[in-house]
Amino acid sequence: MHPAPIEGTADPIPSTPVTVMGPAAAPTASGQPGHPGCPKRMVFGPCGGVRPDGGCEMIAMPCVFDSVDQVPVVAALDLPVAAAVRAPLVLTDLSAPPADASALAATARILAASSDAVLMGDHQDRPDFPPAMLARIVADAGAIPWVTLACRDRNRVVLEQELNGIRHDGLATVLCVTGDGRAFDVRPDVTQVFDLDGTRLAALAASMGVPVAVAETPSAPPARVRPLRLVQKQRAGAGIAVLNHVRTAAQVAAFVTAARNAGLTIPVVASVAVYTDERSASALTALPGLEIDPATVQQVLMSDDPVAAGIAAAVTEARGLLAVDGVVGVNLSGMASSRGTAYAAQVQAEVGVQISESIHPGEGAAP
Ligand code: SF4
Repeated sequence: MHPAPIEGTADPIPSTPVTVMGPAAAPTASGQPGHPGCPKRMVFGPCGGVRPDGGCEMIAMPCVFDSVDQVPVVAALDLPVAAAVRAPLVLTDLSAPPADASALAATARILAASSDAVLMGDHQDRPDFPPAMLARIVADAGAIPWVTLACRDRNRVVLEQELNGIRHDGLATVLCVTGDGRAFDVRPDVTQVFDLDGTRLAALAASMGVPVAVAETPSAPPARVRPLRLVQKQRAGAGIAVLNHVRTAAQVAAFVTAARNAGLTIPVVASVAVYTDERSASALTALPGLEIDPATVQQVLMSDDPVAAGIAAAVTEARGLLAVDGVVGVNLSGMASSRGTAYAAQVQAEVGVQISESIHPGEGAAP
């Protein structure tokens, strides 16, 4: 039997609005114009896609938030109770061909027993079913769904529609993100919306009673503002945080300590890179703001049995992260294998089982 997941909720929300500071006046968590010059029209920037040299993810210019020392402060929401989020020990990325219900269900069935929840992405080059529909298919297949909701392709009204659907079904936690920008050669005929950013979307979702997860990229420039930026998402109503990859557990520990010192109280899930071949490794390194240890990648790829080596590397990384104070779970990220969806899911499932076994020997995987 798997241990009961930890219940996490957002901080009690103070009833008095806090002081607004930073580059954009932000007395509430919705409705303001974004920072002048930000292609994503963010109020609560910077996004996680800032380049290592401080450049913008979207266009050739420095990120407009790069000189910011203090992030804008989210005004207090008047929420009676923020929706609780069940913190997963193992949260597994679910990768399946878009808009393919049978492949989605089959993949969810492979992952259900090894994962406390499965996370569906929202990819700039792979539009999929609406999130509420994804959640329903995954739940019907026996897994617990988390769905990513990105501001890239949806105006505020459509985001409200999506959240209404998720709330109606009551099945999923929603990971609220701004979203990475669409590549210049992907659907150049469509606009990128960005009515809201991840923090404002979290506030909207929380105000509607939906369980909210948020993401942060500890290593993205300017790294000094990242811990406080996560705290602002907690103030917006987030009940749990998911961190993007950094190279070492020590970096995660330093980030979590800084965030705790800044007021973070919600549980944190840290990301584990799962790859077993060159293509699955490079898919991870290509994502903006994401770091994996190149020496470990080399070791896995040069091994006589890269699949076993990749699984072992992921389990080792997970154990290191779970030893960090404040980290309650791990997110198994990446495509895991280039040998197809089912094989990749089996790799992820094996990683999940081994993590659960190593943390709670003899108790089995998720129910
Ligand atoms: S890097 Fe992100 S936050 Fe910074 S200007 Fe570009 S889109 Fe905006």
